[in-house]
Amino acid sequence: MNEVKKPRKPLIYYYTIVLIAIILFNFLAMPLISGARVKEVDYGTFITMTQNKEVGKVEIQAQENQIVFTDKDEKQVYKTGMVDDPDLTQRLYDSGAKFSGEIIEQMSPLLNIFLTWILPILIFVGIGQFMYKKLMEKAGGPNSMAFGLGKSNAKVYVKSSEGIKFSDVAGEDEAKESLAEIVDYLHDPSKYKEVGASMPKGILLVGPPGTGKTMLAKAVAGEANVSFFSMSGSEFVEMFVGMGAAKVRDLFKQAKEKAPCIVFIDEIDAIGKKREGNIGGNDEREQTLNQLLTEMDGFEENSGVIILAATNRPESLDPALTRPGRFDRRVPVELPDLKGREEILRVHAKKVKASQNIDFGKIARMASGASGAELANIVNEAALRAVRNGRKTVTQEDLEESIEVVIAGYQKKNAILTDKEKMIVSYHEIGHALVAAKQSHSAPVQKITIVPRTSGALGYTMQVDEGNHYLMSKEEIENKIATYTGGRAAEEIIFGSVTTGASNDIEQATKLARAMITRYGMSDDFGMVALETVNNQYLGGDASLVCSAETQTLIDKQVVELIKKEYEKAKKILTENRSKLDKLAQFLYEKETITGEEFMEILEA
Ligand code: ADP
Ligand code: ZN
Repeated sequence: MNEVKKPRKPLIYYYTIVLIAIILFNFLAMPLISGARVKEVDYGTFITMTQNKEVGKVEIQAQENQIVFTDKDEKQVYKTGMVDDPDLTQRLYDSGAKFSGEIIEQMSPLLNIFLTWILPILIFVGIGQFMYKKLMEKAGGPNSMAFGLGKSNAKVYVKSSEGIKFSDVAGEDEAKESLAEIVDYLHDPSKYKEVGASMPKGILLVGPPGTGKTMLAKAVAGEANVSFFSMSGSEFVEMFVGMGAAKVRDLFKQAKEKAPCIVFIDEIDAIGKKREGNIGGNDEREQTLNQLLTEMDGFEENSGVIILAATNRPESLDPALTRPGRFDRRVPVELPDLKGREEILRVHAKKVKASQNIDFGKIARMASGASGAELANIVNEAALRAVRNGRKTVTQEDLEESIEVVIAGYQKKNAILTDKEKMIVSYHEIGHALVAAKQSHSAPVQKITIVPRTSGALGYTMQVDEGNHYLMSKEEIENKIATYTGGRAAEEIIFGSVTTGASNDIEQATKLARAMITRYGMSDDFGMVALETVNNQYLGGDASLVCSAETQTLIDKQVVELIKKEYEKAKKILTENRSKLDKLAQFLYEKETITGEEFMEILEA
């Protein structure tokens, strides 16, 4: 992409440089230049010259302990050290020398001015220009921080032909639709002005990490064929108070010059967090935010500058930022659904050499819950695997294996499970799968492996839900909890003791059970009362309780009861199907991998 031409440096930079140059020159260079005109001689020569009446002017500089004198024509200046010589004055008088106090300054005043003032200016301006050019070339752009502090280093791109288009962003149809209007506006603002409609100044792209928010912003600029300024929120927050604000000012100045254009601020929560009234808050961040608010109010509607910002924690943004007139439009960029995942896989598979008969639908189904960035990573891992195995094309198997790599980590080559451990892990994983399969609502497993992963998981069950689920019924959640407890239940039934292997299951089951009671209103005692608020919808979704201590105690009790109930249910299912459990676990123990089909075959045999 092309770089935009450089912004001009403020004059103050030049003034400062010139001033420093003059001072340096006078201190260092002047003595050398004037020194060249002064010839140093010994005292004997001086005496001889006086005796021969060859001295024109003379000056005794007692402080510097030297005598400065000229020849008769006053062309050449001489200098000699002082010697204790009481007759000196008389002798000089006799020689007809003139006593003078300004020999050194005697050079032509014009030359003097030129040497002291004009020459250094010329030299240093020249050097300055040269260095500025060099630095700019090296820094790769005029917006770099070569001299300026508080300059925004927004990366600027213009009208590139190879820019990202909407077609490069797979899925995300709703987001694209709402952004298409912006593109249309940037193409022809007059259409909107005529009706008196004004575009929102700011649009907030919210969604989990890696869902293509940055890509979408770039695509808007690419489609509208306008400049694209991009900067991350964290880049504004500098060490020195006030610098972030200066950067914001500079960014908007540049943007207004380039209008129509898109300004993209990634991770806006870094500056846009709610301001708090406490003492010792982050001054720099608040100043930066205030400046951003001021700038957004400052430019007129329909000026052609549109600000896109991305965040994955919209709830932490300052309300001032999201009020009408600022970021008043919100475009959700969600995790892709099945169809979206398939499309994203296809887009990225085009960039690698993939074999013809790949079932992208199946891969997409296996990678449920993966973000666009993860899917891109899966395709890349598959390509790497193909290379590792000395093949020229990526196969279905590569893709399937790389899903596990991306989601569960690499296979751990030298992790050795003891026989007993391997047996326990087999039963544990089959326990999950069997409980899931026996409850009509649970999704069947896709594949179970007991190859240890670098992530620390000893076994890994890939569940597949066909299609998308937006609502979950109370029974489905209960069944899911039962499935989580299935692993531990199998261990207890078979070995009579339990292991640490269930820690993740316990966490998941507890989360679900708690959410049922505190957020989904699925307990008889509390009904539809919200007992928890979600803090980070897009980042794990941790919640905090909003109820009295007594209620908390009750909630805890109910969570324990619920999980106990489901654990008993899982144990019942497993004891009733004990022979299947043994058969399946034996199969997994021997083969280390069992697919969904193999599993169902044994179960239904
Ligand atoms: P975000 O800004 O939401 O964190 P990015 O836009 O930086 O995510 O996306 C990261 C990478 O993930 C992109 O470079 C791209 O390769 C891939 N990606 C994410 N979403 C999509 C998508 N919808 N279509 C194609 N690629 C995607
Ligand atoms: Zn488990």
